[in-house]
Parts: sequence; C-alpha cells; structure tokens
Amino acid sequence: MSFQVEIGGDVNHCLREAGLSDSWIGSSELEALPRCGGAYLLALRVDAKVEFMLRGERRGALATDWYFYLGSARGSGGIAARLGRHFRKQKKIHWHIDRLTLEAVEMAAIAVPDGRECDLVEKMLKSGDFETAFPGFGSTDCRRCEGHLLRLTANAERPVPNLDL
Ligand SMILES: [Zn+2]
Repeated sequence: MSFQVEIGGDVNHCLREAGLSDSWIGSSELEALPRCGGAYLLALRVDAKVEFMLRGERRGALATDWYFYLGSARGSGGIAARLGRHFRKQKKIHWHIDRLTLEAVEMAAIAVPDGRECDLVEKMLKSGDFETAFPGFGSTDCRRCEGHLLRLTANAERPVPNLDL
C-alpha cells in the first residue's frame, strides 16, 4: 500500500474557498515538513466501516468515505513529528484519530504553521462544502467546535481514489 499525495476533484477548490492552502504532502515528504508548531489538515479515505468509542461509553461509527481531520501539534518536533505519527501504522491507539489512521487506505496532509485547528474547522465549515462528520470526534478538549473531523457535504464531489496497490 502506498499513500498518494494527489487529492483531486472539488476538494482543492473547496479548500481555496475556505482560504486554505492546497499543497498536499504524503508520507514520503515528511522530512520537508516544518518542525515548528501549528495546525494541520489530514485527509483520509477509509473503505470499510470504522467503529470507535467516545467519552462516556458513547459508540460511534464512520462509513466508507473521505474524512478531513484538523489537529494541532505544539510539542517538540512540531507538525513534522505529529504527522509522522499519523502516517505510521505501528502505534498504540491513543486518540480517536488513531483509529482512523490505522484503517485509512489513503492519507495526505497539509501543514499550517502557526495555525490553530479550531480556526481551520470554522473556515472549512463556513465554505459550505464541509460538515462535521461525527460530533465530539477529536475534540474532547475543545469547547468551541462540534468536532474536529469533517467530511464533504453530500453533494460535494469526492476526490478520485488513487490507490496504488
Ligand atoms: Zn475546536
């Protein structure tokens, strides 16, 4: 399996509408990533249902689709270290997003140095092309957003899967 960098279709247009960059990077380009802190957007495609558990024994499930996770990295190693973890398949499940990165068949990211994940969530929702995928997912510590995992709205065009198996 290889993770492709190409995320095409409407998504890049939607991102530009939301005022975001559309320069995607894949797992092979992690070295080029900024070591500084900031936020990032992680696009993932899952081709099977993913189940997970939220706080309070609340069960959730995500259907086959593309998902867009907004996260932040403020520790040592910054965005590069955090995305390195997301792209790695060998890890203990620690956060909700780990369930998804382990199941993902395609993954690509955009680094937003000095950005804040909640601002990115707001921008993407405002564009009208994205909606919250699952309330509470990835936002346990956030009081501002409904969730940090988004998906394209029903009528937005999905990126063409470019699996290279
Ligand atoms: Zn938030």
